[in-house]
Amino acid sequence: MNAGQTGTHGKDRLMAKRIAFIGLGNMGGGMAANLVAKGYKVEAFDLDAAALGRAKLAGCATHTSINAALDGVDAVVTMLPDGKIVRSVYQNDVFKWAPRGAVLIDCSTIDVATARDVIALAAEKGHPMVDAPVSGGIAAAKGATLTFMAGGTDAAYAAAQPILAAMGTSVIHAGAAGAGQAAKICNNMLLGASMVATCETFAMAEKLGLDLQTFYDIASKASGQCWSMTSYCPVPGVGPKTPADADYQGGFTTALMLKDLRLAMAAAAETGADVPMGHRAADLYEAFAAAGNAGLDFSAIIKTLRK
Ligand code: NAD
Repeated sequence: MNAGQTGTHGKDRLMAKRIAFIGLGNMGGGMAANLVAKGYKVEAFDLDAAALGRAKLAGCATHTSINAALDGVDAVVTMLPDGKIVRSVYQNDVFKWAPRGAVLIDCSTIDVATARDVIALAAEKGHPMVDAPVSGGIAAAKGATLTFMAGGTDAAYAAAQPILAAMGTSVIHAGAAGAGQAAKICNNMLLGASMVATCETFAMAEKLGLDLQTFYDIASKASGQCWSMTSYCPVPGVGPKTPADADYQGGFTTALMLKDLRLAMAAAAETGADVPMGHRAADLYEAFAAAGNAGLDFSAIIKTLRK
């Protein structure tokens, strides 16, 4: 079956049952496993044999060619590294092999322009499509507690929503095509800047002789309160358990924060937005990653400020 034909559940598109999942890495692996757990039949494809092996153990049907994974499905979910790969997978394979009308959901974090282009091409090919990047890391992907921010028409969102709800706890329609990516990079620019501000604040509190747990107790009840402090405190032993307590292993890597800040800086340049704090955070994360810290959790940037 190919793009000219309809899928096995073509008349029941809103109740998609058979889903092709492309990109079963750190995030996609857990997300695909949750779709299986919720009763979907998942047809998995990844270039990496180890990722496919894990998907098989999680109950996915695995394929060594992408066209086999896309054959006859009701929906396609992609979770891929970047916009270039997303564009190529959709243009070269999904539009060619997925049945006409299958709902397409890209959960990767990519630039807004590519998301809009690919969704426009999907519409030309007769596919409802949303960009639906996520907030939440590998643990949230495994635990089905992701937040999805989706961009697309009302009809595309309605078709995608039940599938997204099976992989997360919050699904929000952010607006038209590309709005999911726009919301994601704005959120993560705020997160990057607020993490740097939290880190420099704790470093200064320490130099002023404050006990850091006491300062946490005060600031978390005062006007300085923010997520980077109360949910993700960068100081080991202070606040809830976070990657700081595991020597900054796991969590959200500096490399991924830098990726999102670069996307945000490109969007700021395109739109003429004035983002001085975002720029400073991007510069600091560029330097921190270049110094060999790309694999550490992004809260580890406190090490450079605490010296
Ligand atoms: P990853 O590198 O672990 O997984 C990506 C997978 O895609 C890999 O298994 C790779 O083999 C596969 N792949 C690459 N090119 C392919 C192709 N052409 N066809 C099929 N498979 C292909 O990355 P990840 O951490 O899972 O992140 C995926 C996306 O999610 C990224 O866009 C990232 O920015 C975003 N994201 C990640 C996190 C996180 O904490 N890891 C959090 C939020 C968002």
